[in-house]
Amino acid sequence: MRTQSTKPDLHQALKTHFGFEAFRRGQEEIVQAMLDGKDCIAVLPTGAGKSLGFQLPAVMGKGFCLVISPLISLMQDQVDALTERGLPATYINSTLDTAELNRRFDGLWAGRYKLVYIAPERFKSERFWRLLERFPPEQVAVDEAHCISSWGHDFRPDYLEIGPALARLGHPQVIALTATATAQVRDDIIEQLELGAPPRSEPKVLVSGFLRPELTLAVKRTANHVIKLKRVSHIFKEHGTGIVYCATRKMVDRVTGLMKQVGISCVAYHAGMDDEARKTAQERFMNGQVPVAVATNAFGMGIDRSDLRAVVHWDLPGSLEAYYQEAGRAGRDGKPAHCEILFNFADVRTQEYFLKGSNNQNERAKLKALLRYIDGRTCRHAAILRYFGDPDHRKLTDCAACDNCMRRAGKDDTDRRAPNEEEWLQIQKTLSCAARMKGMWGRAKLIQVLAGSKEKTLLSTGLQELSTYGLLQDMGKTRIRALTDALEDARCLETVGDDFPKIRITAQGQQVMRREIEIKLALADPKPKKPKPNKINQYSDAPTDPLLYNALRALRTELASQNQIPAFRIFSNKTLNHLAEDAPNSEEELLEVNGIGPAKAQQFGEAILKMIASAKSP
Ligand code: ADP
Ligand code: MG
Ligand code: ZN
Repeated sequence: MRTQSTKPDLHQALKTHFGFEAFRRGQEEIVQAMLDGKDCIAVLPTGAGKSLGFQLPAVMGKGFCLVISPLISLMQDQVDALTERGLPATYINSTLDTAELNRRFDGLWAGRYKLVYIAPERFKSERFWRLLERFPPEQVAVDEAHCISSWGHDFRPDYLEIGPALARLGHPQVIALTATATAQVRDDIIEQLELGAPPRSEPKVLVSGFLRPELTLAVKRTANHVIKLKRVSHIFKEHGTGIVYCATRKMVDRVTGLMKQVGISCVAYHAGMDDEARKTAQERFMNGQVPVAVATNAFGMGIDRSDLRAVVHWDLPGSLEAYYQEAGRAGRDGKPAHCEILFNFADVRTQEYFLKGSNNQNERAKLKALLRYIDGRTCRHAAILRYFGDPDHRKLTDCAACDNCMRRAGKDDTDRRAPNEEEWLQIQKTLSCAARMKGMWGRAKLIQVLAGSKEKTLLSTGLQELSTYGLLQDMGKTRIRALTDALEDARCLETVGDDFPKIRITAQGQQVMRREIEIKLALADPKPKKPKPNKINQYSDAPTDPLLYNALRALRTELASQNQIPAFRIFSNKTLNHLAEDAPNSEEELLEVNGIGPAKAQQFGEAILKMIASAKSP
């Protein structure tokens, strides 16, 4: 039994052996659990100081700790750092010649080391086993333990050797360490390493330190590259220096070009560049000559600067883990920084297209988690902590450092206004529909019901029987979604539940529904009223502006032949009518047109807008 008196001893040991004044977050709990003889999983972000969790118990203990590490360079660095502090550590790997290997084996026999680093391949060596069996480790530390899981992002087949090796060693005390582990990966680690296997007791899972309060997290819906570019330009005008992540090398080059055109000084950085060019780019960015780097998300490692004030994702990141790692490169100096995903439904389709090829459930689940984050209306910091299993998420409701919390707090009240009469009706219809759905469904279903969707996923629920079904079908899903967002921001609707979030009407929403109180909402600008068509026009199906109609139809024919697809796939006759009638003159207006989704807008928007502009000019 240990008593409370061990605490001051721990601090003393920390100071004596490592020269550190205090434990960092989470460290003391890990060390204590190790000293209590528990199997542990320690999940802390990179740089948090996980290694101390096994290093301190090892130097305090009698035997030695066997540390399994995936990379030779990683183990060499750690051993060097320990040796510099005068702590007895060594590594055994394939870089050593026979003489050196013998010397280290002798050292092990003599009990000269407290920490012995190996790569998992070492378990294939019978010579090593002869040594281990005579002189077994007191603890085993599995570093970068997510490598064991095929659910993780960095699976290493060699890590599968570890589980059987631990069994062969008779289940010594084990600590598994990683910076990224979702619940699934964690379960996988526990299972494969047989943590807590008899005679050992239940493993201790310690997750902490994922909160990065200095980061502001945001997601912006952006219909196309023009809007993305505007946003990026705005962000770097405000924040100065940072990274723009793109999904492909091609996109890096394209975005670099676009950014230079709008006067942002930047360098491209990706694995397709030759060494020379990459080195120059890296140097110019690292020494502050150039404020912005545009990089593929697979290749941002070499461009770590601690004073980055913004990280922007031009394309979707690969997963939420990957996102947090990349976004986390901002604000390393602890000062405020801004992280933003520029999101476009077309991006999701690209991702899904790639996923179809891989037919990988795991990838699919990851994409879903990412989309849930992007679409989420709750605190983004809390969402991320929850994803990693960091209990600190419970402390967060209004973080004041994410777009959702700021919007809810009405911080950007500037774009709120009183609804007009038409909008009041839409609001009441939306709220009454939510009330009828009794908080049992998600936001997507609410939108489908209001829009009168004929999709199978809706029809199978029976929700089409509701009296509110199709009440806002003229509005189109995009605008209905914007309205539900605005109502949620104004706390008339709320989303509850983590895994399957459901939307419901609030008490305030009830009052608004009955129009008992006034309200201000972040609504889009009302559409300018078109002159009412005269009686004759109303009887015929004739388009408002035959000239524009014909011009757009000609454009459609041209686009169809250019893209070698049938004309109706460019846009339908109905959409053609809407286009001619609404005559949008901006990207935003174009997206408001019934039948024009983000993908269409991105593909053909420019051509359409150009045509409308030229057809309208005298
Ligand atoms: P991780 O494995 O979590 O990425 P490391 O264990 O490599 O992090 O530690 C990162 C750095 O922090 C190392 O240089 C380490 O010496 C230092 N460090 C760890 N704990 C402390 C502490 N309590 N006080 C000061 N520095 C620490
Ligand atoms: Mg580490
Ligand atoms: Zn928040």
